[in-house]
Amino acid sequence: MIYLDNNATTKVDEKVLEEMLPFLREEYANASSMYDFAKKPADAIKKARVQVRDFIGAESEKDIYFTSCGSESANMAIKGVLDCNKEKKHIITTKVEHPCVLNTYKYFEKNGYEVDYIGVNSQGELDFEELKSKLRKDTALVSVMWANNETGVINPVEEIGEYIKSKSPETRFFVDAVQAAGKIPMNVKDTKIDLLGISGHKFHAPKGVGVLYAKSNVRFTPLIIGGHQERGLRAGTENVPYIVGIGKAAELAQSALDYELKEVKRLRDKLEQGILKNVFNARLNTSISNRVPNTVNIGFEYVEGELILLHLSDIGVCASSGSACTSGSLEPSHVLRAMGIPFTALHGSIRFSLSRFTTEDEVDFVVDKLPAIMDKLTSLSPFQDELAELKRRKA
Ligand code: PLP
Repeated sequence: MIYLDNNATTKVDEKVLEEMLPFLREEYANASSMYDFAKKPADAIKKARVQVRDFIGAESEKDIYFTSCGSESANMAIKGVLDCNKEKKHIITTKVEHPCVLNTYKYFEKNGYEVDYIGVNSQGELDFEELKSKLRKDTALVSVMWANNETGVINPVEEIGEYIKSKSPETRFFVDAVQAAGKIPMNVKDTKIDLLGISGHKFHAPKGVGVLYAKSNVRFTPLIIGGHQERGLRAGTENVPYIVGIGKAAELAQSALDYELKEVKRLRDKLEQGILKNVFNARLNTSISNRVPNTVNIGFEYVEGELILLHLSDIGVCASSGSACTSGSLEPSHVLRAMGIPFTALHGSIRFSLSRFTTEDEVDFVVDKLPAIMDKLTSLSPFQDELAELKRRKA
């Protein structure tokens, strides 16, 4: 099996699992209890908070709140901030956010908020000028993802934060950093980011644990109301093993960052170049260098993405198409549509996402096998004249 779908989820690092196991076996105490038996779990949570603090470059571990996933972190930030700023009814986000942000914004739009959705260009780069023109004194919140899950395009969140605070200091700035964590350096204390979300399963911790970072001066109400846990801002008995897991994964991701930026990028570029060279109907959906190092998104013209995925799966390769299967119809990706990707490539777009566990042999295998798959699939396409023209141009 060749796993090239690391933006969907990642495998748990063995070292992370090892660290977690004692807290699933013998160290099962409720970390909030008073007896000695609870000391190890309580200390383990403290350690994980410091590991995450250092990973994202936060000022203090007090700014770290453990959640169940990236989606929860986004909901907690958006709903929590808006609940504290009820007099402001204008919010801004982008057209290419993950559904956990986009659909939360749509929820507020239905509930009386005015929302501006900022567009991107054909390479997936945010229209910063449009964002500038939409920002107002009564903008309660701006949400911009650090890196896009489908294309890997990196947004200039540091610059955006500076701009927001220079024009409207009271506007809150939330960054969904789920796809940036472990792939590019992050140092939130040097930025004007107020709140930021990450998710453990995207960087080799298990599914079911995330983090919300919130600067100490940022007020928000809890999404989950109950006990005193997480300074009263996220109730629920602490999930000690998973918190330990995300802490360890953060530490490992931090030390693997150089490898990610150099070696994972080299393999990604090799895959990208190999496919573009060998497969006549392949086009890069974004070619900008300002992308996270593990992601490539390629449109295979005149072929259905789901068919490509099935054929890749037959040879043991896991990748992903941007489409979401909604109400029985295959909706093309909202990200690629916002970029204006031509319809001939929209339905046949495939995302390959690597990790520090991806090997050169795996990349070579895909580059070697893909041309035959595509020859077969294009031979079944009703667009034979267009494909012949593509082949002529590529030759
Ligand atoms: N944000 C981005 C950019 C993502 O890619 C994802 C997951 O794919 C999420 C948020 C949601 O994270 P989780 O699956 O942990 O809820």
